[in-house]
Amino acid sequence: MESAHEGRRSSGERRSQVTPLRRMRVLIDPVKKLIQPTGWSKKALADLKIDLDGLCESNCGYCSSNSNLWHQFNKRSHAEAVTAQTGTGATPFTPGLSYRFPDPVAQLRKELEGKPRNYGDGKTIAFGCLVDNLGTSLVKSGIARACLELLVARTMLRIRVTTKNEVVGREEWIRFFLAHAGRFVINLSIGTVDDEWARKIERDTSKPTARIRAMRRLQDAGVPTGGMICPVFPQAVKDIEEILTAIRPQRCEMVWAEPYNDRTNWTRVTGDQQTEVDLANMFGHKKDPNAWSAYAVDLYKRLRLRADADGWTDKLAYMLYESSMEASYARTFADLRGVLLQSVDKNGRSKHPVFAGLQDRLKITRHELIAYDGPESNDWTDPQDEEVARWEALMAGSAS
Ligand code: SF4
Repeated sequence: MESAHEGRRSSGERRSQVTPLRRMRVLIDPVKKLIQPTGWSKKALADLKIDLDGLCESNCGYCSSNSNLWHQFNKRSHAEAVTAQTGTGATPFTPGLSYRFPDPVAQLRKELEGKPRNYGDGKTIAFGCLVDNLGTSLVKSGIARACLELLVARTMLRIRVTTKNEVVGREEWIRFFLAHAGRFVINLSIGTVDDEWARKIERDTSKPTARIRAMRRLQDAGVPTGGMICPVFPQAVKDIEEILTAIRPQRCEMVWAEPYNDRTNWTRVTGDQQTEVDLANMFGHKKDPNAWSAYAVDLYKRLRLRADADGWTDKLAYMLYESSMEASYARTFADLRGVLLQSVDKNGRSKHPVFAGLQDRLKITRHELIAYDGPESNDWTDPQDEEVARWEALMAGSAS
């Protein structure tokens, strides 16, 4: 396995073809609170989140954090800070630009003052949600480590470190995680094993092969890990077996996976980055209403077949924005195992009538899916025959 990854690494010559970025770290006003609630609760990832920068310095071409409401509300003040400090008109979409806060360590210390000793007991915090808190500057400056130490010392939160930096697999970090047993789980996000391609779209992260090595080192040392196969672009779906072999799902607490979902950034992902990903058939002028559904189904089937074969289906969390799913494709998800529905109302009921019908049939809500003890693994096959008939009957019922 390792040798296959070695074979895909970029040569120095190839990497040099990628235009170097002008890196601009702009100081902006701090957020009111560093620790905040998070939508990641819907993904079963975390109850709270903490982001130590305002705009991530990792510069992934597909990142959607740079267009969220906070950026929109603060557009003018951020633009003024950028112009004053860099002399450019760079925007959150300009590669190389990141925002830093004045003193996150002092702010976090103050925020935690007066909290009860059992603050966060039974809850998980995402350490890095809209930015990578283990980005190069935050690690080198010691800010990341200092904030982790504060969270360990002053809370009882479980800390889910989500990162694309292989640094977490180094000895000093492994020792730190092991010294606080039960407090950490490390999610290294890996959506491809192709270093050369990844370099075009994840410009300031560690290479995927380096992340895989880090994840395996953590696992070998006994540090809890979570799989984050996110996002898997269409051209990487065929590599899913290789990705799964690399991350060792049996040793992960959970394995999250998702296809690419358009956050009004698909043109940047394709054209601007020259990533050779053709998304126009899914989201652009050539839009085929079935294309995204077929892709999302293909990815799920590959994950599911491998999970069933290897016995880790109960760990699979396929994050599916099912409102985009064409009804005729939905039958693949008939038993809903390993599926984490995302287009749901506050009660966990899918807004997609077919998926809502499935939930009714199975008597489950989205929130129960992870623990749902569905049919034995080997009962599930790609539903082509009797399941299709059942499915069609269900759809007929949902439509009426
Ligand atoms: S590491 Fe995550 S938050 Fe940072 S740019 Fe990449 S996708 Fe966005």
